[in-house]
Amino acid sequence: MIYDVIILGGGPAGLGAAVYSARFKLNSLLIAKQIGGLLNEAHMVENWLGVKHAKGQELIKQFEEHVKALKVPIKKEEVVSLKKKKNIFEVGTNKGKYQSKTIILALGTIKRKLNVPGEDKYIGKGVSYCYICDAAFFKNKIVAVIGGNDSAVVAALQLAEHAKQVYIIYRKDEIRAEPILKHKLAKNKKIKIITNTEITHIQGNNFVEKVIFNNGKEFKLDGIFIEIGSVPSVDLAKELNIKIDQNEQIIVDKAQKTNIDGVFAAGDMTDSIMKQAITAAAEGSIAAMSAYRLIKG
Ligand code: NDP
Repeated sequence: MIYDVIILGGGPAGLGAAVYSARFKLNSLLIAKQIGGLLNEAHMVENWLGVKHAKGQELIKQFEEHVKALKVPIKKEEVVSLKKKKNIFEVGTNKGKYQSKTIILALGTIKRKLNVPGEDKYIGKGVSYCYICDAAFFKNKIVAVIGGNDSAVVAALQLAEHAKQVYIIYRKDEIRAEPILKHKLAKNKKIKIITNTEITHIQGNNFVEKVIFNNGKEFKLDGIFIEIGSVPSVDLAKELNIKIDQNEQIIVDKAQKTNIDGVFAAGDMTDSIMKQAITAAAEGSIAAMSAYRLIKG
């Protein structure tokens, strides 16, 4: 069978694309290793229209139920290859091969690493990239969050509910998160900010015990949460020679079109100026409309 559209990715962008593909009556398939993407890691979402507060995982459950109600099939498989043969795309997964007339790439991003000595050694032993998963293990401990934008601040606020003391360690002189988050940060007495500082080493014995700063000073702590952004998952896009910018983001136009006919992209992996669940879902819906227009003329 040749689908009208195969959507790769199960975050807000992919699920938004699936809802609109169904509404455009496209014969669609969504393939994702895991449903939810980074939204799974959002402790509390307060900027989804019409929902004042919801856990990221609760929102995702509703998105998935919506897609299932519209009867878009979802395959929880890992995509390993993407090829274009004549005008048909072939998606290879760990379980099979699927063909389509168009593709919507919505693969999101993967967390950026600090790349300092000790980081890999202490993953799961004090180094974490997921405060939602690990915050509770640091009850009454001293932890640091590395980073200086929204993710770092959200992580610090959540960690402060468990830890004795939370530090945000930022390489520049002023945190650049959303004003509403900065306001919450300023009010939280458990969080201290260390600016103009980078970490050069993570050290310990069985577990993390300290970090070394770029000024040579040692800093004792029990846990480090790395929230320094993420990098788009563009390996598959590169297989199709899709144009990416200097930040490895897929270049799209207002219709979410890439430089390759029949390939659209949406969400955090694109060069869009705002990376939010609500904008990702909107971009997914635009991508579905563009796929529809291409197929149905
Ligand atoms: P960003 O890429 O926006 O920020 C990464 C932060 O980490 C920056 O402060 C950056 O420093 C710092 N950084 C990057 N690399 C290094 C490094 N090697 N060493 C030390 N520090 C480093 O990522 P976020 O995950 O914070 O946000 C991603 C997107 O998601 C943004 O668009 C954000 O607005 C959105 N978001 C929104 C939330 C919300 O509640 N509204 C919550 C979480 C994310 P520098 O400032 O010097 O570049």
